[in-house]
Amino acid sequence: MTRPLPPPPATGFSAPAKKSLGQHFLADRHYIDRIVQAVDPKPGQRLVEIGPGQGAITLPLLRRHGELTVIEFDRDLIAPLTDAAAPIGPLTIIHRDVLSVDFTELAAGTPIRLVGNLPYNISSPILFHALDHAGAIADMHFMLQKEVVDRMAAAPGSKVYGRLSVMLQAWCEVTSLFVVPPGAFRPPPKVDSAVARLVPRPAADVGIDDRKRFADVVRAAFGQRRKTLRNALNGVCDARHFEAAGVRAEARAEQLEVADFIRLANVVVD
Ligand code: SAM
Repeated sequence: MTRPLPPPPATGFSAPAKKSLGQHFLADRHYIDRIVQAVDPKPGQRLVEIGPGQGAITLPLLRRHGELTVIEFDRDLIAPLTDAAAPIGPLTIIHRDVLSVDFTELAAGTPIRLVGNLPYNISSPILFHALDHAGAIADMHFMLQKEVVDRMAAAPGSKVYGRLSVMLQAWCEVTSLFVVPPGAFRPPPKVDSAVARLVPRPAADVGIDDRKRFADVVRAAFGQRRKTLRNALNGVCDARHFEAAGVRAEARAEQLEVADFIRLANVVVD
C-alpha cells in the first residue's frame, strides 16, 4: 500500500561502517526523501533494495510502500534491520552477495523495481549483473559515484562516453537525477555521488543479435579509443562489415551512437 511520506524519523540504527563492504551510510534526510520520491512506489509493485545498510532508505520506503525485499551481505546488519523493520511492516531480508542473486528467479514473472545506494567498490559488476537480468527488472534507482553516473549517461562526443555508456544505454534508458555531496553520508566518501534512473528497454527494442559479440565489439572499440575503428577493430571487423553497418571505418569509437555499435556487431559473424 502506498502512503504519503512520513515526517523525518530516525534513519535506522547505528553500526560501525565496514570499508571492505563499501559502507557509506546515507544520513541526510533531504536526500533520503528525494530518493524515495524519485522511486515513487505504487501499490502492487515489487521493490527490492540492494544493500540496505542501517536502513536509511529501507525504513522510509517500507513506511511508504508497506512491504519490501532487501539484499544485504553484512551479517552484522541482519538482526538490527529485522528489529528496526518489525514495527513498520514486512521486510524480506535476503542475506546474500547481490551478485549471486538471480533477479529473474526473484522476480518470478513480475518485474521488480531495484533501489540501492550501491557499494561503490562493486557498482559496475552490479550494473552488469542487472543487465543480464534486464527482462526481470522494471526499473532501477541507484546511487553511485557521480563520475560513474556521468559515464553511464554520457552522449557520443563526450570525453566520458565509453564502454559503460554504450553497454548500459543499449539495454536501458539512463537518466542522471541529482547529485549528492559527501557530507550526506557517514562516513563521507571522498567524491560526489549521484542518483541515476535506469529503465530497461523492451527486449524487442534492443535489437542485439548476440550479447557476447556486441560486448566484444564495444570492448575492442574503446580498448584503443584514440585509434580509428579500422585499427581498433582490426581482426574483429573488416571493410565489408563497416559498409554493411553504414559505419565510417575512419571514425573513432567515441563518435558512434549506440545504434551504430548494435548494427556493427550484428553484421559481424564469427
Ligand atoms: N542503503 C544504506 C544507506 O544508504 O545508508 C547503505 C548503503 S552502503 C553504500 C552499501 C551497502 O551494501 C552496505 O550495507 C553493504 O553492507 C552492502 N553490500 C556491500 N557489498 C554487498 C554485496 N556484495 N551484496 C549485498 N550487499 C552488499
